[in-house]
Amino acid sequence: MGSAPPVLVWFRQDLRLTDNPAFRAAADSGRPIVCLFILEDEDAGAWAHGGASRWWLHQSLTSLQADLSKLGLNLVLRRGPAERVLAEVIEESGATAIQWNRCYEPWRIARDKTIKTALQDNGVEVTSHNAALLQEPWTVRTQGGHPFKVYSPFWKTLRQMPVPAPLPKPAEVKAAPALKSDDLATWALLPRNPDWARAFPAHWTPGEAGAVEKLERFLEDALKGYGNDRNRPDKPSTSRLSPHLHWGEIGPRQIWHRTLAHIEAHGGGDKDAWKFLSEVGWREFSYHLLYHWPNLPEQNWRSQFDDFPWKDDEALYEAWCRGRTGYPIVDAGMRELWATGWMHNRVRMITASFLIKDLLVPWQRGEAWFWDTLVDADLANNAASWQWVAGSGADAAPYFRIFNPVSQGEKFDPKGDYVRAWVPELAELPDEVLHQPWTASEDQLRAAGVTLGESYPHPIVDHKEARKLALDAFETIKRKAA
Ligand SMILES: Cc1cc2nc3c(=O)[nH]c(=O)nc-3n(C[C@H](O)[C@H](O)[C@H](O)COP(=O)(O)OP(=O)(O)OC[C@H]3O[C@@H](n4cnc5c(N)ncnc54)[C@H](O)[C@@H]3O)c2cc1C
Repeated sequence: MGSAPPVLVWFRQDLRLTDNPAFRAAADSGRPIVCLFILEDEDAGAWAHGGASRWWLHQSLTSLQADLSKLGLNLVLRRGPAERVLAEVIEESGATAIQWNRCYEPWRIARDKTIKTALQDNGVEVTSHNAALLQEPWTVRTQGGHPFKVYSPFWKTLRQMPVPAPLPKPAEVKAAPALKSDDLATWALLPRNPDWARAFPAHWTPGEAGAVEKLERFLEDALKGYGNDRNRPDKPSTSRLSPHLHWGEIGPRQIWHRTLAHIEAHGGGDKDAWKFLSEVGWREFSYHLLYHWPNLPEQNWRSQFDDFPWKDDEALYEAWCRGRTGYPIVDAGMRELWATGWMHNRVRMITASFLIKDLLVPWQRGEAWFWDTLVDADLANNAASWQWVAGSGADAAPYFRIFNPVSQGEKFDPKGDYVRAWVPELAELPDEVLHQPWTASEDQLRAAGVTLGESYPHPIVDHKEARKLALDAFETIKRKAA
């Protein structure tokens, strides 16, 4: 075996060593390993990583490199079209086999098929695996053999399917001779002038160890009560695993088995655990939809929305992006997103509903902003969720259900802790007017140091009127469809 040619492991959105089937298969082959990561901006086109994702990627690659070097391996970094880079690395290393874990972005599926054929034509053995999902999207089917369009029966089917146990990290591997690698710094993934990500490190520890630690802390501190508290942005009530899951620093199978083992060991919390796993199930559903409807990120899943009379006012869109809408819960969410690269799910729904229904801006523009600013920006989850809020998606919230940003704020941030944290200029307002500062008396505003229109904006639209306009707009497409 000493002279066996190397095997190439192509890391993509699976930046971990445990439960990584491609890496495991390479280790089990006993052959020397070349580890490669390619920055694929050209191949990705419009869906190249956004700014916050690039920040995460830089940290995650640094962490993966450190983990690999403990096993005596190097991570080779290259950029460019994957087909060309792979051919070069295969030529340089003499590898005769390649292992990768499958990705499900439509551009990747098409691109990977081409690459696979080209490599096989050149005599390279290509093996791909599932590392990112509980089940492959094509294996979850209705009784009639069709893809699911509704979440509940999808989940009912999914949760009954056996989930393979996670694969342990290989204890020993052989390294292939070193190849030249780009210096990560030259990829300029980190923002400069200004460094808008300067607060990110206080919130995140990218990398496999950080992911495992997040899961353990969540199971210990927040699983119990998750079912009730998961809607509260003022509490640390959810796992915040989404960027780790997106980058594959932890896999859903690990989360599945670890969560079930935790409740078995600690008893109770059964309902909370299944609620949590059902959210991981929503992620699977998003991937299922993206796989079967690859236009999901760009086109309305329900074509009747193609005729929707959007207003798409630039100034209103800008105010939304910057967290200057005059609606405190919306502004808190948009500022949390900018400062940390993440936003609580409840507030994602509120801010998305506000953009689409109060401002009549097409959902794709919100999707694009989230794509650029979220550290967990994920083609499947982002697209499916925006279409869910818009009412244009599969199993979506009905269009006429329009979130009221005041009552949502009062319900889910009852003491105003969340708004006070992210909109500090309103912090001194009393609870009863915090979510609607325009109803505060002159005395209340003065005592809190708030001058509406100066220190904090007036509402950019009147919610009641905006709601009516949105419903009228919806009527027009309903009429057309009738
Ligand atoms: C408009 C909008 C855009 C979104 N964009 C993204 C995105 O780009 N990337 C992303 O990962 N999630 C997205 N979500 C879904 C959800 O908001 C996040 O997954 C969740 O807030 C992540 O926080 P958490 O890890 O603490 O979640 P937890 O409540 O701890 O849930 C555990 C995991 O389940 C998955 N999950 C939870 N809720 C959902 C959901 N509604 N849909 C799909 N998967 C879910 C996530 O992978 C999450 O990490 C979006 C939601 C909305 C309304």
